[in-house]
Amino acid sequence: MSDARLLLRDGLLFDGSGAPGVRASVLIDGGKIADPDTAAGVADCPVLDCSGLAIAPGFIDLHSHLDLQVLEDRTEKIRQGVTSEVVGNCGFSPFPFAGDPHELKEFASGILGRGEGWGWSTAAEYLRAVETHSTKSKVFPLVGHGSLRVAVAGHAQRPLSQAELDRLSGLLEDSLAAGCAGFSTGLMYAPGSGADTAELEHLCRIVARTGKLYATHMRSYAAGLTDAVREQLNLARATGCRLQISHLQAAGRAN
Ligand SMILES: [Zn+2]
Repeated sequence: MSDARLLLRDGLLFDGSGAPGVRASVLIDGGKIADPDTAAGVADCPVLDCSGLAIAPGFIDLHSHLDLQVLEDRTEKIRQGVTSEVVGNCGFSPFPFAGDPHELKEFASGILGRGEGWGWSTAAEYLRAVETHSTKSKVFPLVGHGSLRVAVAGHAQRPLSQAELDRLSGLLEDSLAAGCAGFSTGLMYAPGSGADTAELEHLCRIVARTGKLYATHMRSYAAGLTDAVREQLNLARATGCRLQISHLQAAGRAN
C-alpha cells in the first residue's frame, strides 16, 4: 500500500482551509498526498474519475462516544469519511478506575454502549489498546471528569474534599501526560454535576498548562442555558484553557 500511486482526477478539491473548492487532480503517492499542482501530468498509475465529486481531507468527528467501538476496528465511520475521532466526551471515559472497575462501568455503560468487557485502570492502558486495535482511524481520547470523580469518590454527588481533589488532579495530570487530547465534563450528569465552579477552575488550570482541550456538556441547555454558557466562558477566561461547548443548542420551545 505504501508504494501505491493513485490519481484522483478532476474533482472539486476542498483543501480544509475553508477556501472555496477548486477543480483539481490529486496524486496519492507512497501513501501520502502529493502537491495537487504536480498531479496534472501524471500517467501510468490507476485513476479514479472524480468528476462530479468532492475531494476533501478526512473529517474529524469532534464529539464521539465510540470509545469502545473504535477498538473493534469497524468501518462505518471511515466509510463516511471520518478519519479522526475525539472520544471521551461529556465526562465519560472508559478509564481510569481505582481497584475495581465495577463503579466506573455502572457510571459509563449507558453512554459507552456496553456493560462488560471494557475498563482500563489508566489512560496509558487505554491508549495502548487503541494503538493495538484501532487501525482505521486516529483516536483522540479526552479523559472524563465523571470517570475521574468516580475513581476518587465513587458516585458521591457533592463537593470533593481537598484530598479527593488532589487525587483527581493527579489522575488528570497523568492522563494528559500519557497522551489524552484533553478533558471533558458532563455537568448535567451525576457525579460530575456535584462539582462547583471552584473545582472546575482548578481542573481547567491543569488543562490550560498543557495547552490541551476542555470540552463540556454544560449544566443546562434549557432554562439555565445562558448561566451555563456564562460559567464556561468565565472558566476559559479565568484559566486560559481552550474551551469547546459540546452540542450547543437551546432545548425546548420556550428557550
Ligand atoms: Zn453530552
